[in-house]
Amino acid sequence: MHIKDAVFLEDLCPKFRFRQWRKSIHRFTGKSCIYCGKPSESIDHVIPRSQGGLSKTENCVPACLSCNGDKSDENALYWYRRQKFYDPRRAMAIRAWLEGDLRLAIRLLQWANPNFKEKNKNYEKDQSEYKAA
Ligand SMILES: [Zn+2]
Repeated sequence: MHIKDAVFLEDLCPKFRFRQWRKSIHRFTGKSCIYCGKPSESIDHVIPRSQGGLSKTENCVPACLSCNGDKSDENALYWYRRQKFYDPRRAMAIRAWLEGDLRLAIRLLQWANPNFKEKNKNYEKDQSEYKAA
């Protein structure tokens, strides 16, 4: 049997590939909403499809249903800035994610996680004044 004859499950079943992709997105954040940190139950388009946003990893983030529904088809970066749970570290993470730097995004999210022990309080204070993102 030649390799070109091989039939891959993914090719046979696009839904399977889609499910795997969705799972991998949720895994990046440990299944928590990129905006508020609650359990992620959906995939949100940072730049909505209605504004030309693509369904690729860089534009798709794990989100809880509440954030996803509330945001609707607004640009996530604008929407997020108005939220009560706004955190500049998460805003930076969303931006890094959008730019395809998932490693940086995940580091920022871990840092924004309330369970994450803060070592440098001064730096955190500086960051809370970072509103120009
Ligand atoms: Zn949320």
